[in-house]
Amino acid sequence: MKAFRSITAILLLALSLAGGARAQAAAAPADAASASASGTMAKFHIRPVDDAWRASLPRNADAATQAYLDRLPADVVTRSNAYFEGGYWLQLWNFLLGLAISCLLLRRRISARVRDACLRIGRFGAVRDALYGVFFSVASFVLSLPLTVYQGFFREHQYGMATQTFVPWLVDQLVMLAAQTAAFALALAVLYAVIRRTGERWWIWGTVATMAMLVFVVMIGPVWIDPLTNTYKPVSDPVIKAAVLQMAHADEVPVDEVYEFDASRQTTRVSANVSGILGTASVRLNDNLLRTTLPEIRAVMGHELGHFVMNHIYKGLCEMTLLILVGFVFAKWALDAMLRRFGAAWGVRGAGDVAGFPLFIAVFSAFMFVTTPITNTLTRTQEIEADRFGLNLAREPHGEAEVDLKLTEYRKPDPGPIEEFVFFDHPSTRHRVHDAMQWREAMGTP
Ligand SMILES: [Zn+2]
Repeated sequence: MKAFRSITAILLLALSLAGGARAQAAAAPADAASASASGTMAKFHIRPVDDAWRASLPRNADAATQAYLDRLPADVVTRSNAYFEGGYWLQLWNFLLGLAISCLLLRRRISARVRDACLRIGRFGAVRDALYGVFFSVASFVLSLPLTVYQGFFREHQYGMATQTFVPWLVDQLVMLAAQTAAFALALAVLYAVIRRTGERWWIWGTVATMAMLVFVVMIGPVWIDPLTNTYKPVSDPVIKAAVLQMAHADEVPVDEVYEFDASRQTTRVSANVSGILGTASVRLNDNLLRTTLPEIRAVMGHELGHFVMNHIYKGLCEMTLLILVGFVFAKWALDAMLRRFGAAWGVRGAGDVAGFPLFIAVFSAFMFVTTPITNTLTRTQEIEADRFGLNLAREPHGEAEVDLKLTEYRKPDPGPIEEFVFFDHPSTRHRVHDAMQWREAMGTP
């Protein structure tokens, strides 16, 4: 589930739109057993095997895992390492760029002047704050566009995962900018109303309001946001539909339909999710996944159903509430200290002044940046749980291992333990294949 990363992003009001942190991901305990689809298999050449190869694997989980990993050619591993390790630096550059944008808006008093202009248009505080939200969303989009274009377009093409030409890609970004801007307007109107009314205790009520807004986004995401950039329709293949519904019904997931969406218009990655909150559920897989084999589809959907059955979205929201609470305590302390010193120079009149939002978002992103290993570990722990749930449900250790190999397209397959702890929001290929082979060894299946 990418919920943490995405919730964080929504919370930071989606400073980095193209970073893959779209509301869609928050909407779902989703994820991504992402992998390469048939289109890039030529570049992403893993030696194919048959059932005889699988049956002849050693029973021992360590040895069988190594046999799977040995099928990854050296150039695939090198390329994957370069892509994924480059991502570590991109996290830093995105963070620093956010700080630079905040600095620019505050030190040149742009933020204060925009607040005054918004006040002339909207007399009420909430209208002014919403208008400021529109400004901030668009300004941060424009200022970070060069990095967004590099990271989301050129780099994805360079590694062979993007399928869009520039104009359709940009149109998608603009559609998401519109959604993000609406979210900013609403969020700032609510958040600053709460901060002004609750005074010194705004960190408590700010947490409550933020969580309420997150639940709202998680609810509307699958219905209103996801269809903005992709088309959803019932899966046409009756065999796949029956296979997925069988597993869903075995665990009493309340669905009668399975949906597919056209992710191949943007990417070669495979993904799926089971979205829904407060009594609703929707099982959705992308068209790249549909091009893999049935055991792989069953393995991935067993994992996704695991997120739903184990209530990962609720647990994630609870964990996130605690993290936000601590983050807001830190933000209050940092905001008060900085405003005492620089408030007059920046034209910001206190914590309840929306002109101070660039400072708020800067200190909160600093907190989230430093706690990345914690959020990654919370998410990764759920992913490991879902993997094990999926093995028990789908009983496809080889399907799981095959998908895991494909994940190597974009995730470093064999990191050290500290690297996995700090940077991985999903377990590595070695970790996941080993879990599958451990299940196979213990259960004595072929
Ligand atoms: Zn997952």
